[in-house]
Amino acid sequence: MRISNIQIDIGLLWNEAEITGELAGEFDVDVTTLSGKLERFTAESRNFRARAPLTHKKRAFGIRLDESLSEERAQEILARALRVSGSFKGDVIEAGVRWSENLDGRIWWPVLAAGSLSDAEELLHDLRDKTNLEPLALSIVPMEDTREAPFHFTIGEMKFEAARVACIPRAKTIFHLDKIPIGRGFHWERKEKLSYRGQLHLFASPKQGLTAANRLPLETYLHSTVFSEMGADLPDAFLAAQAIAARSTVLATTGRHHRGDGFHLCNDDHCQCYQGVSREPNDIHPAIGETAGQILTHENKPADARYAKSCGGVSETYEAVWGGEGPAYLMSRPCGELTIGNLKDEKAASDFLHQKPAAFCNDDFYPYPERWNEERHFRWQRDYSAKELENIIQNKTGVEIGRLRELRPLVRGASGRILILEIIGSKRTLKLYRELEIRRALSSSHLPSSCFIIELQGKGPDRFTIIGGGWGHGVGLCQLGAVAMANQNMSTEKILDHYYPHTSLFTQT
Ligand SMILES: [Zn+2]
Ligand SMILES: [Zn+2]
Repeated sequence: MRISNIQIDIGLLWNEAEITGELAGEFDVDVTTLSGKLERFTAESRNFRARAPLTHKKRAFGIRLDESLSEERAQEILARALRVSGSFKGDVIEAGVRWSENLDGRIWWPVLAAGSLSDAEELLHDLRDKTNLEPLALSIVPMEDTREAPFHFTIGEMKFEAARVACIPRAKTIFHLDKIPIGRGFHWERKEKLSYRGQLHLFASPKQGLTAANRLPLETYLHSTVFSEMGADLPDAFLAAQAIAARSTVLATTGRHHRGDGFHLCNDDHCQCYQGVSREPNDIHPAIGETAGQILTHENKPADARYAKSCGGVSETYEAVWGGEGPAYLMSRPCGELTIGNLKDEKAASDFLHQKPAAFCNDDFYPYPERWNEERHFRWQRDYSAKELENIIQNKTGVEIGRLRELRPLVRGASGRILILEIIGSKRTLKLYRELEIRRALSSSHLPSSCFIIELQGKGPDRFTIIGGGWGHGVGLCQLGAVAMANQNMSTEKILDHYYPHTSLFTQT
């Protein structure tokens, strides 16, 4: 399999009762009926409509106990969990894509079946509190729903009872889809008609209604998502390193977050915001173009080369943020030639956040590029009255904690990021797991990172000051650090080797 030939499926709409749109230009249309019969015809500039009765059957959920790089480890963890709680049913689930014999993006999840979403939430709570399973590795995952359901498909004057429809462009024609939600789940969510290049696939399942997916070459997808945001004002060595990391990560994570949905990645921020041709750049920076076909690999796997805006001085490990078995190259590393104490310790974390070590992402030493210059990313501060913070916590978690007494970090990762936080109130004590949950719960939007200390003032206490470092999860490449390295004339290879040690650059010629 050549990397340049890889195609991926992006979910554009799902859980729909009706999908409408237009094929603008010439397309080959393949309609597969439930009995497996294939009808093939050519359509030019036609409107279409797909309709499926929404059955409102609830999807089933499970608890993922771990993410393992080998099936054996996943089996062991499942067996151990089943010994503790014999009343459960469990299975090891394979996620990710095996692109070729020597490019394997698969991982394995031991999963306990839970039932409805609220059953799963209750079970998650119990497993965290009452067992010795690794609490940060536990998460709720939807169980598979791949059974196809029939739907009505109308195109021009033709009507079909279809199981699957594929529309394949004959030339560089595009298709339009109506009512694509942008910003799902946010207060500013809106729907727009958007246009796409590549193939359109329509299918339905009993529990998820209709789905529309766009099949397109990996490189085209990367150009209209990540690469389009990478401007010419950034140094070449950084742009090339970022492009290689983004390409590797897509191959490593494809199919993991939408297992059973019938597509690889969604078009929203959950995976990567993708708006079809509206975001296609006119031209791509030559430094990015030159990386076509290049990825990082580790032991025959595409490297899951994560990146974030600023590590804050030290990068975080994969397992601290997402749980499970983290790959060896996503270890914790100082961002530069620094000696750092053990930041899992409260005192060391506090000293570290009050100091400003000469890390590559510290703008006192290495000025930020203009586009990222409005915010202080290396060290930041938020001040709240006790009342303000109580309200935010109640709004975000739905738990009434009473008077806020204390925020107590229980577990910190190697970068100082808080992984488990206890919120102590006069009525309730609440535990938050995972850095993203913690960042959400303590801000009306998001805290920049969960690497922070809390300083209290007054007897109540009346005021809470949060002093933090870094922007984002801090795993893998530190974008501001990598820009500084490139500005110091360090090469793409040197940058990648610094943030992803033990990986190799794989170039397909
Ligand atoms: Zn997604
Ligand atoms: Zn950094």
